[in-house]
Amino acid sequence: MNAPAIDKVIEQYRITEEPYYRSIGDEVQTFDAAYAVRMPMMLKGPTGCGKTRFVEYMAWKLGKPLITLACNEDMTASDLVGRYFMEHLSYFVGRMTVTSPPGTQSFQEEYVQQRSKQDLAGVCDFFFGFGLARAPRERHRLLGFSVNALPPAPSGDATAGAVEELVTSPHQGKPVRSYSLGVIAERAPNPNSRVFLSDERDALGSRKIVVDIQPSPCDRRSAHKGLRLFALELARSGHGRAQLQEADESQLLFLMGHHMGTTRMADDPARGVADRNGRVHGMSNLYLAGSSLFVTGGFANPTLTIIALALRQAEHIKRVRAGT
Ligand SMILES: Cc1cc2nc3c(=O)[nH]c(=O)nc-3n(C[C@H](O)[C@H](O)[C@H](O)COP(=O)(O)OP(=O)(O)OC[C@H]3O[C@@H](n4cnc5c(N)ncnc54)[C@H](O)[C@@H]3O)c2cc1C
Repeated sequence: MNAPAIDKVIEQYRITEEPYYRSIGDEVQTFDAAYAVRMPMMLKGPTGCGKTRFVEYMAWKLGKPLITLACNEDMTASDLVGRYFMEHLSYFVGRMTVTSPPGTQSFQEEYVQQRSKQDLAGVCDFFFGFGLARAPRERHRLLGFSVNALPPAPSGDATAGAVEELVTSPHQGKPVRSYSLGVIAERAPNPNSRVFLSDERDALGSRKIVVDIQPSPCDRRSAHKGLRLFALELARSGHGRAQLQEADESQLLFLMGHHMGTTRMADDPARGVADRNGRVHGMSNLYLAGSSLFVTGGFANPTLTIIALALRQAEHIKRVRAGT
């Protein structure tokens, strides 16, 4: 583009009417002095304090065009927006056979009865799960973890034959039941697991989202260790046996819809996007709510924690508005 053509484009960004601006200190003189020696200035202050109006005013005063850009990138100095994306690790890990002492109703029988009462087959399968107590988890330095027993897998499962055999033959004189086993486990928060915008556009012209999950080796190691402890404990208690199988890589990328992280909370702006009340650092009136604030993901479904945080946040905003 030649120079007159550029001038014509820029002309439309010139501010022709003086914007109302009342200075609060010597910021106008400081800006003037910095501009005179072409020194860049950074303006800092909470949302609503007047930064934009000040820039508009200075652009008018100095006769400069003002071009405002819509920014899609992380604007925080800590580069944390979109990072620490977390999902639960969830995959099938094998089979479990459970025995019951003769004449007693054990948890698995109760479960089956409850399930048939609910009659939700085809809509929703209930399952029961086991977690590790806090002490062994801490001793073995494991992430959050649960093993869940589901109704037996449909035929076609490679291990089904062997397990069916066990089910139909009495095991030390006790009835036996068989279940598929699934694990739901925590992933360690990882800054390289992130959500960001690609250069590709969707039908409406917005940049598409990329979700880049980077499984840490410790995620899998922790889940496997937990499973081994569970299998050993099951055998030791005499309540049954678990047959475990290795998960393949694709299973480790399965998404449960439990999206967490990307705007983690921390009181220190260098470590979090928002503070403990969900208020974005550096802004006085911008709040985030939801599982994006989570710093760790645990292994439990996230909604109750999301609601608890939202209620706490609502109370906080009420107090801020009341000035108490
Ligand atoms: C299939 C499935 C099953 C699940 N099952 C369970 C379960 O059993 N238990 C459990 O605890 N969790 C479950 N979850 C997870 C749970 O649904 C989510 O963790 C939870 O809903 C997240 O809440 P949120 O408020 O953070 O986000 P959301 O519930 O996703 O709310 C975000 C809202 O923002 C709106 N929105 C987005 N963009 C814009 C915009 N530009 N302008 C205006 N509005 C916008 C969306 O329409 C949406 O209503 C499940 C998830 C899925 C996908």
